[in-house]
Amino acid sequence: MSAPIANSTAHWRALDAAHHIHPFSDTKALNAEGARVITRAEGVHIFDSEGKSYIDGMSGLWCSAVGHGRGAIVDAIADQLRQLDYYNTFFKTTHPGVAELAAAIAQVAPPGFQRTFFTSGGSEAVDTVIRMVRHYWAAVGKPSKHIFIARRNAYHGSTMGGASLGGMKPMHAQGGLPIPGIIHVAQPYWWGEGGDMSPEDFGLWAAQEVARAIDAAGPENVAAFIGEPIQGAGGVIIPPATYWPEVQKICRERDVLLVSDEVICGFGRTGEWFGCQYMGVEPDLITFAKGVTSGTFPLGGVIVGDRVAEGLIGQGGEFHHGYTYSGHPGGCAAALATLKIMHEEDLVARVKSDIGPYLQSRWTALAEHPLVGEARMVGLIGALELTPDKARRARFAAEEGTVGLIARDISFREGLVMRAVRDSLILAPPFTLSEGEADDLVAIVGRVLDATWAEVRARGLVATSA
Ligand SMILES: *Cc1c(COP(=O)(O)O)cnc(C)c1O
Repeated sequence: MSAPIANSTAHWRALDAAHHIHPFSDTKALNAEGARVITRAEGVHIFDSEGKSYIDGMSGLWCSAVGHGRGAIVDAIADQLRQLDYYNTFFKTTHPGVAELAAAIAQVAPPGFQRTFFTSGGSEAVDTVIRMVRHYWAAVGKPSKHIFIARRNAYHGSTMGGASLGGMKPMHAQGGLPIPGIIHVAQPYWWGEGGDMSPEDFGLWAAQEVARAIDAAGPENVAAFIGEPIQGAGGVIIPPATYWPEVQKICRERDVLLVSDEVICGFGRTGEWFGCQYMGVEPDLITFAKGVTSGTFPLGGVIVGDRVAEGLIGQGGEFHHGYTYSGHPGGCAAALATLKIMHEEDLVARVKSDIGPYLQSRWTALAEHPLVGEARMVGLIGALELTPDKARRARFAAEEGTVGLIARDISFREGLVMRAVRDSLILAPPFTLSEGEADDLVAIVGRVLDATWAEVRARGLVATSA
């Protein structure tokens, strides 16, 4: 076999297979198959090295909020790097971009959020929360409050702290996780775990699980509860409306801080600036990343409510925590340019009352397909639950996830990126999606469902077990 031609799919696949370890992948299996090579992105589309285009139904990895290829963001990053390519924010220094971004975030954050601590991404933001919250309680004279309550099947990142707070069993099974001091409780996943309860009753039950966990550990030992307003990687799990207000009440009564992990929901995904606003709750801390720069530069952080900010910095004393890239000038420029686009194009309002409802109505109509048990969407984040028997919310006669992957692979073939979680398909397109593109997207999903249904029947995976 001759060496692959330079700048060809085979060339990049060969280099990748020889030298690259992929995140969340079976690299050996991937190398045997050959990775998809993405070379270009524009608007809501990505293009591979063979020239095939796909609708980016996942905004990359929940990131590309304002669409791909936005020149204003690219220019802002380049201008900033020419002016000040890098400097840190330790050692009594700041720079214009980080100061302006912190103020711009305070402007869109819920009332009572004035200050931001910056990181390079979501996992570092979550790790910051662990250290910040424990330090806060020590600083206000309650050092025994150190335990975190989190949910099973939550995703809070992949560092030791983030993966520990997360409730992903396969992650815990590797590398000795979770770290001590974390209690995992039920997730508010009515479709999968609600049994005979109504969604409303199940939401209250799941919230009461938080109360039971806090009371069992002793409220004097519990520092905070952390949750995503809508679980993203867990399968776009939209809690029943009863859940979040009850969780807030439970935490307030027990003086437990509430952390809203908004790495996905933050900055407009739900049609509000923050997912906690959609859910009607007032957290004490908010983590963010991903959409804040539309994925163009790694930047995240923790928006700190006044109560924690006062305890943390009010009495003076150093917080021994920070990252080399906390407030990187390039990331700050990217975020400022992204926020400018969101304001100028009124994109959060567009998700709430224009393209959001437009896509939702077409998406929820997919529930009429024989393969779809539930079609849910808030703002521009949604899921389809695939089932062979809607009434019983039954599983397929195959290992869980088999049918989801069949559908995901067909979707790629048809030119739409969706992600499979268990036997569901999830979607989170850019906020700039046009009505025509939404129609194309839904038409592709229809074809994907038909082709998946045909394959499921041909392979005899319909015979159900509840
Ligand atoms: C992606 C994600 C994280 C981790 O962010 P990284 O930037 O990948 O470190 C944390 N929390 C939630 C809710 C996420 O979706």
